[in-house]
Amino acid sequence: MTDVWPIGVFTSINAGFGVHLDVVSELKIPSIQIHSPHGEQRNSDHAKKFLAQCADSGITITVVFCGFDGESYADIPTTAKTVGLVPEDTRQQRAADARLTAQFARDLGCDTLGMHIGFVPQDRQSASYKDLIEVTRSLLDELAEHGQKMHLETGQETAEHLLEFLHDVDRDNLFINFDPANMILYGTGDPIDALRKVGAYVRSVHCKDALWAPEGQRGSSWGREVALGQGDVNIRKYLETLKELGYTGPLTIERELSQDPAQQKIDVGQAVTLLENLRSELWP
Ligand code: MG
Repeated sequence: MTDVWPIGVFTSINAGFGVHLDVVSELKIPSIQIHSPHGEQRNSDHAKKFLAQCADSGITITVVFCGFDGESYADIPTTAKTVGLVPEDTRQQRAADARLTAQFARDLGCDTLGMHIGFVPQDRQSASYKDLIEVTRSLLDELAEHGQKMHLETGQETAEHLLEFLHDVDRDNLFINFDPANMILYGTGDPIDALRKVGAYVRSVHCKDALWAPEGQRGSSWGREVALGQGDVNIRKYLETLKELGYTGPLTIERELSQDPAQQKIDVGQAVTLLENLRSELWP
């Protein structure tokens, strides 16, 4: 991999929004994050096979993302109700499930678990918030025993509230996977401002773009995810800011277009070119 900013792509084994591994090798992308498969496919045999395929293509796995049964991103209220460790009815069960994904990540030789934790409750004194802190700590402590850390995906909270949550959890193996497009999609803040605020915790990133929802609907209706460079993020500014912050890790492209794999592949290919060009300019 190139030392600074190796290109990556968000990949799916059989669940989630990622591209397929054959596309990754065809485009000669050197690193991937993967969305963990659900259920029976999340076993060590499957991990070994997948790891061997990656090794054959010279691909490094940088983050393994948790995904939970029953999650839906249909609209923002449904996302708030169904995603991550926040929903109380499924919190314990999902924390247990995340431990299985952590084992799957270890089978893949990966020390980082990614997660959409959900819409963290606003009230830091509420019982739900306090319990979420405890459940998150307990998961992180177990990860730490295996030398693993967790990266929280951004977007469902403002940068300020995410910082409060990290502060309250108070564990040194909790970091951020920064997704600039999510700040726009969820209407939680200007992505570049947010990146500057949480920069000290950013250990992985998504390169994804989006258009804001119309004024007056931000935060209640989705913005629209688009191909990299065609949205409101300002990818050049995004990369310049990552450089200012000293971030040199992978630039992981995310394109949520799994219903149209042919177009997804074209968009990912163009995103690779865009990022490689900007990288040569910014790191001459
Ligand atoms: Mg993302």
